[in-house]
Amino acid sequence: NPGAAPPRLPFSRVTQEDLAFFRTLLPGRTITDPDLLKSSNVDWLKTVEVCPQGGNTGLVGGSVPVFDEIILSTSLMKQVITFDNISGILTCQAGCVLENLSNYLEERDFIMPLDLGAKGSCHIGGNVSTNAGGLRLLRYGSLRGTVLGLEVVLADGRILNCLATLRKDNTGYDLKQLFIGSEGTLGVITAVSILCPRKPKAVNVAFLGCSSFQQLLETFQCCRGMLGEILSAFEFLDASCMSLLEKHLKLTNPITESPFYIVIETAGSNATHDEEKLHKFLEEVMTSSLVTDGTVATEATKIKALWSLRERVTEALTHEGYTYKYDISLPVEKIYDLVQDMRGHLGDMAKNVVGYGHVGDGNLHLNITSPSKDPALLAAIEPYVYEWTSKWKGSISAEHGLGLKKRNYIYYSKPSEAVALMGSIKAMLDPKGILNPYKTLPDNIH
Ligand code: FAD
Repeated sequence: NPGAAPPRLPFSRVTQEDLAFFRTLLPGRTITDPDLLKSSNVDWLKTVEVCPQGGNTGLVGGSVPVFDEIILSTSLMKQVITFDNISGILTCQAGCVLENLSNYLEERDFIMPLDLGAKGSCHIGGNVSTNAGGLRLLRYGSLRGTVLGLEVVLADGRILNCLATLRKDNTGYDLKQLFIGSEGTLGVITAVSILCPRKPKAVNVAFLGCSSFQQLLETFQCCRGMLGEILSAFEFLDASCMSLLEKHLKLTNPITESPFYIVIETAGSNATHDEEKLHKFLEEVMTSSLVTDGTVATEATKIKALWSLRERVTEALTHEGYTYKYDISLPVEKIYDLVQDMRGHLGDMAKNVVGYGHVGDGNLHLNITSPSKDPALLAAIEPYVYEWTSKWKGSISAEHGLGLKKRNYIYYSKPSEAVALMGSIKAMLDPKGILNPYKTLPDNIH
């Protein structure tokens, strides 16, 4: 199984002398108690035994040690360094929890340019290291655009201070990009500066039902045209996801049962203008029968309740037993074909095959559950799912990264020349291979 742990590389073992050194360097902060280490050694999906570590919410086994690597946690690095309320540029330490940063900014009339279901635990350093996408990417773009600067500790201990707070800086190579999305394999991010948008004065959320994925796509097209600059999210979940939300989390479906559900968010500066636009759009999609039923929220509690139907799908799935998770980018019109194809391909082998994700970004989360880990099921899914994705020129990791689990499948989305160049960059920045070994790069490249 190419997602399994490779043989241990010839690193030395941690000795009592090493521990004594760390105890001098970090008094009271060198943890060896197995009970206390448990939460750091097992990731959110609880799939890996026991590296840079942020909130440990990663979904690809990147944030936990494979053998006996030392965990370097950023959880005590939680200070905001500066915030400029003219430019909207925030500079903070890497261990700030995303939700705490959001709350800090909202008090100052700004928001973070990213939002995701794991916001209560994930750290901004982890978000940058995974180049997390999330729910606002459609509006504010990728972290590759909004992150303006990084401070990074390199494998040899040098501190790379690229913590610029400038929107424009074309002085040579943009080195920070190397660390965005490299999953802790090239350096440890210690501080981030990021461009934050103003807090929108008016936010509306619509939760709609569609009877086919084709109608959902047409609704998306119509939505882009009619909502234009105020559209901030267009997300979807299928009927199987809704059943799991109802069954395991006791959430209530606010509209009549449909094969597909859409969450649309608008964010703008003028409530009357935004509501007028939204209502015209809703009228259009209802009268043309693209949408079968829907509800709208403008008030914070109801907005949160509608969003939780999308945000908590990942959590609902964990109650089903074991989940095989795939995070795929495809041309948007193909994204649900993969779910349907997979249902046919797997037949009764899988308990559930569900699809949800970021329609606006062409990003499908395909999740397949079984009561427990099932090697025969896994063999039926992989490499089939990657071959399918590659055939349509998609990406086998849209936003979660490769970590331990997906590293050997990289060739389905990257040419061998590109992977070899990644290996050269790794060798230059981390010649001893000590930063997050066994992750991101395939086993034939160290
Ligand atoms: P961790 O899980 O601790 O680490 C992730 C990777 O980054 C590891 O390889 C780790 O070694 C490395 N790393 C962490 N901190 C640093 C650092 N300071 N320097 C260098 N390397 C570091 N992801 C999305 O993209 N979009 C979503 O919508 C989304 N929704 C999610 C919803 C739920 C409920 C859950 C559980 C996860 C979701 N994720 C999503 C995945 C995950 O939350 C993101 O990948 C997140 O960015 C990880 O942040 P973290 O602080 O938890 O990092």
